[in-house]
Amino acid sequence: MLDREELRRQEQSLDDLYRDIILEYYRSPRNRGRLPSPTVSRDGQNPLCGDEVYLDLLVEDGVIKEARFQGQGCSISQASASMLTEAVRGLSLDEAEALYDRFHRLMTGDETVDPAELGDLEALSGVRKFPVRVKCATLAWHVLDEAIKSLRKA
Ligand code: ZN
Repeated sequence: MLDREELRRQEQSLDDLYRDIILEYYRSPRNRGRLPSPTVSRDGQNPLCGDEVYLDLLVEDGVIKEARFQGQGCSISQASASMLTEAVRGLSLDEAEALYDRFHRLMTGDETVDPAELGDLEALSGVRKFPVRVKCATLAWHVLDEAIKSLRKA
């Protein structure tokens, strides 16, 4: 586990704009909670930081109609999960996977991805300077990827 002081120091050193967006999602998360009858539910953990994310998706005709999350952990992991639920609503499964792919490439340093195309998700790109925290930012996205893959197998 990373020590709490170190986590706070890293969060403090993010650029102001990025930090404000992340903290705003962390303090007032969108789509937090569970869906009454989700099409698919998945969860994931990031043991390095103690983050947990549960994700519920309601999928109709191949389109994500609703997405909600629950979880606990650092501000980056929870803000990223909340941003994810906003970003994927209304997307087809293919579009959601393409977004996962673009976000994942952004976070792993692929310079060909234009962060500005990703809206609020751009704020998470500031985390790249802390490689260990990239796992915090991508946790919910790995859960999304697993959820979509499980639907495709069904
Ligand atoms: Zn974390």
